[in-house]
Amino acid sequence: MNEQTTQATLASQTTQATQTFEYKAEMKQLLHLIVHSLYTHPEVFVRELISNASDALNKARYRQLTDTAILDYDTPLQITISADRDQHTFTIEDNGIGMEREDLLSKLGTIASSGTLEFLKNLQASGGKVDGTMIGQFGVGFYSVFMAADNVTVETRHASPDSIGLRWQSDGKGTFTIEETDKATRGTKISFTLKESAWEFSDEYRLKSIITKYSNFVDFPILIGSEHINSVKALWQLPKDQVSAEELTEFYKFLTNDYQAPLGHLQLSIEGSVNFKALLFVPETAPMRPTAFEQDKSLHLYSNKVMIQENCKELLPEYLRFMRGVVDTDDLPLNVSREVAQSSPAMAKISKVLTSKILNVLQEWEQSEPVKYETFYKNFGSLFKLGINSDYMNREAIINLLRFESSLQQKGTLVSFKDYVSRMRDEQTEIYYLSGEHRDVMAVNPNLEYFQKNNIEVLLLTDPVDIIIVPSIPSFEGKMLKSIDKADVNVSSAKSDTSDEPSRQATDDLLKLFKDVLADKVEDVVESHRLVDAVVTLVVGKEGMDVQMEKMMKMLDKDFKGSRKVLEVNTEHPMIKNLSQMCLANSEDVRLRQYILQLYESALLIEGNLTTPTLFIRRMWEIMSDATK
Ligand code: ADP
Ligand code: MG
Repeated sequence: MNEQTTQATLASQTTQATQTFEYKAEMKQLLHLIVHSLYTHPEVFVRELISNASDALNKARYRQLTDTAILDYDTPLQITISADRDQHTFTIEDNGIGMEREDLLSKLGTIASSGTLEFLKNLQASGGKVDGTMIGQFGVGFYSVFMAADNVTVETRHASPDSIGLRWQSDGKGTFTIEETDKATRGTKISFTLKESAWEFSDEYRLKSIITKYSNFVDFPILIGSEHINSVKALWQLPKDQVSAEELTEFYKFLTNDYQAPLGHLQLSIEGSVNFKALLFVPETAPMRPTAFEQDKSLHLYSNKVMIQENCKELLPEYLRFMRGVVDTDDLPLNVSREVAQSSPAMAKISKVLTSKILNVLQEWEQSEPVKYETFYKNFGSLFKLGINSDYMNREAIINLLRFESSLQQKGTLVSFKDYVSRMRDEQTEIYYLSGEHRDVMAVNPNLEYFQKNNIEVLLLTDPVDIIIVPSIPSFEGKMLKSIDKADVNVSSAKSDTSDEPSRQATDDLLKLFKDVLADKVEDVVESHRLVDAVVTLVVGKEGMDVQMEKMMKMLDKDFKGSRKVLEVNTEHPMIKNLSQMCLANSEDVRLRQYILQLYESALLIEGNLTTPTLFIRRMWEIMSDATK
């Protein structure tokens, strides 16, 4: 329907002359940035143009399988490059899917993702080098051509038989034009005269070396003159021992536009209830771009060496989407539609096998290559962990692969539940954890004091995702998991109760006064067994929500009311002893009420939940004025 409308409009414009369009402001900025900041590796424009041609050829090849009415049905798919050393001209031509007017406007006139410009600007402002080789990652690879040319012409004709030829031209600054041409063949031809600084790219020898460096794995012949430059090779089809480490790295870079080598890979050849070959990679770092860029990325699906679907999401569960690579299967017919492929049983089986193989690799790393595993975990852990709540089949395996900071380890060192349990003393029955935003802040959390004093390990959950997943794990190896923010945490109550009767009475009276003053604010006030140096702390009642979780809920919903907390009072603390004496002397003393409120709010402040800092500060000033009289 959509297509028809587009064509109808095009038909009525047949006699129209050249139309001029102005780039949006952000597009202009982006172009400026590309031309003036991406001074390293200008040769990547060759790669980007070839990569686009290859994408277009893949689309044409796929369409040919299902539609014989396609324009130039049986021409061999290929990319032809020609350059003239004397005229400094450069042309790259493909007989791929081509572009319609709408594509020229939306794909070659706007930035695909709104985050791109922001991101590049920030990177540049923070002194980060915007390396030319990175550009393809941002979905703006085409524009790298303006590193080499001032004026670019794109002549294109879409594969639909009734399409018309179009010419797009731009100086990469303010505007571009579109006009009709009489292009007879399907595909796209991009031509320009090289800037003086880029004359080297009209040298055939130089071009050949760039193509073998960056584009060797393109699935279609790349021709310069009649010479075939690239070695078309489906690596994943070869036996493992015939694939070198270099080829793997090159292939990975080609596939992902990453400029670094991958962290690791796995190559699979599966025969059985489902048959497929796969070559998968774990990237070294999470992509340096807003996550929005990533959402559509996944493995490419091939059927007998023909790519039938780019970024096929159904091949992997969401939590393993950091993986890159290709899967090639004969179990799906070539001309299967996207919808059918998605719901096919073969797809589900492939996904299941891939998942378990990937988890196996991670387990291997965890066991024998801990540094590699940590690199993986630090980069992709937040996504990976979510598998706990979505992949019940592999839940145990994922739980074993979790890592946390620990109160007994240096900042940055990660431990597993297994490590933790192996260090537990016999009398300890629970696995303790504390959640928070920053390790340094957590280290001085009053609720941690008891554990530190008694040398009991506490897992420190610093990743916001942890608050979602850890409470969903009730126990590990029979040990219950417990947040130390909770009131019923099993701290020993064997606190020496040497206090004599009168002072016991004073303490009880004081606690009663606390309850009185804070009646509508807390669930209860109790004597603490966990505090050492701190005077008071807030803990969560038995049924209450974890403090961090509550904070998150409040962020999502302004009206969210957290549950009331239990205030624990360190009755061994000299200040509390003083207060008990004051209370004994005169429980009506107004200062007592003031102090109690101040103590309560100080606990709120530590927790990050004090909403009335001004009142708190005013009270503090009053107390200090009083004390310095
Ligand atoms: P990306 O390739 O990441 O989408 P580019 O800036 O390289 O970003 O290309 C933008 C878009 O322009 C492509 O997605 C494609 O739709 C279109 N395009 C570019 N070159 C060609 C080509 N040779 N044939 C058909 N379409 C093309
Ligand atoms: Mg591209």
